Amino acid sequence: MARSLASWNVDIGWHTQALCVGEDPELFFPLVETAAATAPARAVCRRCPVLIDCRDWAVRHGETDGVWGATTPSQRRALRRAALDS
Ligand code: SF4
Repeated sequence: MARSLASWNVDIGWHTQALCVGEDPELFFPLVETAAATAPARAVCRRCPVLIDCRDWAVRHGETDGVWGATTPSQRRALRRAALDS
């Protein structure tokens, strides 16, 4: 089942400004992680005022699925590895 940030009832203040509220959750959880499949969600993220907060949260919490803060799961894995190596 696809999840969207907007559907999560978690205490992260920045989520109230999430631009994905009202968007189709399936957009943010495509079945494949190709550039084409993730492009629509990443386009929404790039206009979002809380992109940095969202991306940092997803990286810190090890979010393994979906587009968060304009990043794909493999991009977040790379960011986590880089953080561990520094
Ligand atoms: S950056 Fe993307 S996933 Fe994160 S809150 Fe904004 S629109 Fe939603």
